[in-house]
Amino acid sequence: MKRTLLLKVDSQEPETEKIGVAVDFIKRGGLVAFPTETVYGLGADALNPKAVRSLFEAKRRPLDNPLIVHVGYVKDVSRLTKKVSPKTERLMKSFWPGPLTLILRRSEVIPDVTVAGLDTIAVRMPRHSVALALIRESGCSIAAPSANLAGKPSPTTAQHVLDDLDGRIDAVLDAGWTRIGVESTVLDITVDPPQVLRPGGTPYEELEKILRRVELHPVAIAEKELATNEVRSPGMKHRHYAPDADVIVVEGELSAVVSKVKELSEVYMRKGSKVGVLATDETVDYYMVNVVRSLGSRRNLAVIAKNLFRLLREFDLESVDVIIAESIPAEGLGLAVMNRLRKASGYKIVRAGGR
Ligand code: AMP
Ligand code: MG
Repeated sequence: MKRTLLLKVDSQEPETEKIGVAVDFIKRGGLVAFPTETVYGLGADALNPKAVRSLFEAKRRPLDNPLIVHVGYVKDVSRLTKKVSPKTERLMKSFWPGPLTLILRRSEVIPDVTVAGLDTIAVRMPRHSVALALIRESGCSIAAPSANLAGKPSPTTAQHVLDDLDGRIDAVLDAGWTRIGVESTVLDITVDPPQVLRPGGTPYEELEKILRRVELHPVAIAEKELATNEVRSPGMKHRHYAPDADVIVVEGELSAVVSKVKELSEVYMRKGSKVGVLATDETVDYYMVNVVRSLGSRRNLAVIAKNLFRLLREFDLESVDVIIAESIPAEGLGLAVMNRLRKASGYKIVRAGGR
């Protein structure tokens, strides 16, 4: 057990001394959790294999799931990849700093453990003063997966980080809530046309405006479990985002969804299960179950994305046995939300209205 240091920092203008403490840990091969605009990340020096191995251990992350490497400046990418193409330049210029991760061919300086032995690397520049200060002051590229135990919902507050990792990491920089609440979009540009491997904070529609062609990989839509040969990295097959409770997602036209959620809740309550329903402002009053929570209005998918992981964690604090979740429109940030819900359910997806 380590003592995990909690460092409260200003989210706009982080205090130099506190960043300095975190930088020292990173430089010495330690582990520091920090806020980004998406979720909290758990950082280690990406080029220090010992530090990266301890990061996998702290998170209990399977070694076949590669990490995203975070850079402080666009120029840092040229060290990590073999060749920066015009397409890469254009995407970095349009979306960085921001919630877009690019998959590129890796260079030799990167330890195998960081990229799980693949010949590609995932890179992004986060849009958050605290994250950028930490990366820039340390002079390192920082490997940072989400700062949760593997398989659990990602953390959107420093408290979520401590709930999972207190005593397992050196420090957490606490700058309050993360703005977006779901992870970055992962875009593979080693293939033509580029493919979205994970929908996230940069909507697909925004990528379409910049790229002539872009596809959604089936793993991004997450309607069913894929075979090993269909995924880009083996880590994509691991269970993700899952609370302790079972999750069921009900999809279809809204009124049919509401009826189906009610019907399923009754079945589970009759069996003696404690039932949680993940609803929206428009539907929250329809349900009479043990715990009902609203993600927010269906008219504001950004708010829904921001609330998702917190609410999944809250259902666990209430010890519900099953969470029945309404689907939301799979557009804009809604696509990322539906991907997380479907994966959290282990693909237990019910179609309402006989579709
Ligand atoms: P996390 O940072 O924990 O949210 O997860 C990082 C995501 O990026 C995972 O879905 C990884 O599988 C994915 N990823 C990281 N590196 C690569 C890569 N080289 N190729 C494909 N996917 C990757
Ligand atoms: Mg993660």
